[in-house]
Amino acid sequence: MQEEIKKYDKDGIIALLNGGETTKLKAREIKNSFVGNTVYIRGLIELSNKCIKNCFYCGIRSLNNKISRYTLTDNQIISSARYAYEKGYGNVVLQAGERWNEQYTDRIARIIEQIKTFSKGELSVTLSLGEQTYDVYKKWHDAGADRYLLRIETSSKELYQRIHPKNELHSFENRLKALDDLKNTGYQVGTGVMIGLPTQTIENLADDIIFMRDLDIDMCGMGPYIEHSQTPLAKVTQTMTLAERYEQALVMVSTLRCVMPTINIAATTALQTIKPTGREDALSIGANVIMPNISPANALRSYSLYNNKPIREGATGGGDEELFDMLSQRGFDIGLMQHGDSLHYRNRMKNR
Ligand code: SF4
Repeated sequence: MQEEIKKYDKDGIIALLNGGETTKLKAREIKNSFVGNTVYIRGLIELSNKCIKNCFYCGIRSLNNKISRYTLTDNQIISSARYAYEKGYGNVVLQAGERWNEQYTDRIARIIEQIKTFSKGELSVTLSLGEQTYDVYKKWHDAGADRYLLRIETSSKELYQRIHPKNELHSFENRLKALDDLKNTGYQVGTGVMIGLPTQTIENLADDIIFMRDLDIDMCGMGPYIEHSQTPLAKVTQTMTLAERYEQALVMVSTLRCVMPTINIAATTALQTIKPTGREDALSIGANVIMPNISPANALRSYSLYNNKPIREGATGGGDEELFDMLSQRGFDIGLMQHGDSLHYRNRMKNR
């Protein structure tokens, strides 16, 4: 019989965040008891690094003219998705900088339909394409998309405004509304935050956990903040070292697992950037999803969100044997040919 989900107040969450190894051990037990030992695989396809926005922390912000911009062709996207299908991933994630126009909306809908058709519905599709209108979200959901990941980055309005330009394009309220629209559209909804932002406090992180719980999310992707040298935020004095951000991120993952035992939590690449075993470390304490990058090689080099982002060989170069070996050696079951929907989502649907 499944255990009851413990309800933590803010003091309890702060205690978990200050709990270090004790919190990690607790999270490991909760994870194994509620969602088990299986790691689900999502093949990440980075469609384009063009973006209309200028977030102060992001290497592909539109004002960064030092990177070369690309957009994958439909054929490149579909062949990456076919790679995921043939390798038994069960899932793909389509990610890109933000764009708003009808032609783009239609193109994404067409690509989702093509993926669903060739895989006979066996590939589940997650989108990470930023803020859109309710109608756009609905169109993509109707086309077959299953999940949507939109990170709030921080639930503190004050901190959000410090890491984004002050204009309508980067409004905190719009981000909240987009998350609300996603919930109403019927997706499995995910969000996430950056950990170790300049001036961020433990209180902020506790509020982030409460925000995710109150939003009743199904999945989360969060990791340490890592500077990108061509961004304004990299020039601000950092309050934590990378090693401290790494540790804080692991404890944050653990805390979220304790507070929301049945959601899916991704072991993010940002952890791996700081420490080569970062993703495995996160999987061993609370995460249960991994997102190998299967974008073509040209995209891998140019989708530069932060410094030293690891570059896998991509769809043409493989790398799966090493990944699966590593997961097996660390004692994980690999959820091949499975969608791996979050238990939280399944329970949510049952109780509707
Ligand atoms: S964080 Fe997202 S929305 Fe902001 S600049 Fe980067 S890609 Fe664009």
